[in-house]
Amino acid sequence: MEVYSHSRLSTFEQCKLKFKFRYIDKIIPDIEKTIESHLGNSVHKTLEWLYKNVKQNRIPEIDEVVSNYAKNWKEDFEEDIPIVRRDMNVSDYFNKGIKFLVNYYLNHKPFDDNTIEVEKEILINLDGKGEYKIRGFIDRLSYNLKTGEYEVHDYKTSNNLPSQEKIDNDRQLALYSIAIKEIFGEDKKVILVWHYLSFNKKIHSRRTDEQLKKLKTETLNLIKEIESTASFTPTKSALCNWCEYKPICPAWGNKPPARQLTLEEYYKIKEKKS
Ligand code: SF4
Repeated sequence: MEVYSHSRLSTFEQCKLKFKFRYIDKIIPDIEKTIESHLGNSVHKTLEWLYKNVKQNRIPEIDEVVSNYAKNWKEDFEEDIPIVRRDMNVSDYFNKGIKFLVNYYLNHKPFDDNTIEVEKEILINLDGKGEYKIRGFIDRLSYNLKTGEYEVHDYKTSNNLPSQEKIDNDRQLALYSIAIKEIFGEDKKVILVWHYLSFNKKIHSRRTDEQLKKLKTETLNLIKEIESTASFTPTKSALCNWCEYKPICPAWGNKPPARQLTLEEYYKIKEKKS
């Protein structure tokens, strides 16, 4: 059985060479994250903590939320984290996170939209036989008692606000709605909700059963394409500036390392020796 993730599929679509570095060669880059991903993770962790408290009938004060965010930021921060944008520094990114959380808090308090789970792990059976699965994590799942809909919430910290058309074609949350229907019943209604924190804006979308069926087929076809690919050519784009493999990418005149041992291989050899 092969388990894929949305980010694995997206990486292949973005750049086949990056896909090879990350998922086939399993090269561990010198620097694994960017300041943007660090900001995103710190904000996500804080919202997870907030809703875990809410589920236990305690609403943290706003300053507790900010303190929790500062703790998360500090815990995972690495001094050599790259900052691509020249007009921004570490404090700017840190303060952005505070702004996102304060706005979110003021808009959503008392957080009474009936949250069922946070960071919910889901496994989607794509082919009905269990040979191809997609694993994902839903930021937050709630059940709207008024509309009878399951709500799949996703927090975004990026600076780009997508069009409604793009949102209506988004693969990730649509796949998650397949999982919700598999868990709670095919007849259940699901609404997808994106929280674009940078814009203090919520965007919604729904999928029909026909659209979900089509999506399953398309995703399965993409996986088959990945598995039959033998040529992993680089695709240069603006996103390369945020690619953790740029320092070893031949498309940028850099030298890929001689084949390195992955951690997995290293531990296997170690196990054999002991
Ligand atoms: S730097 Fe660009 S071209 Fe090179 S692997 Fe990364 S995404 Fe691909």
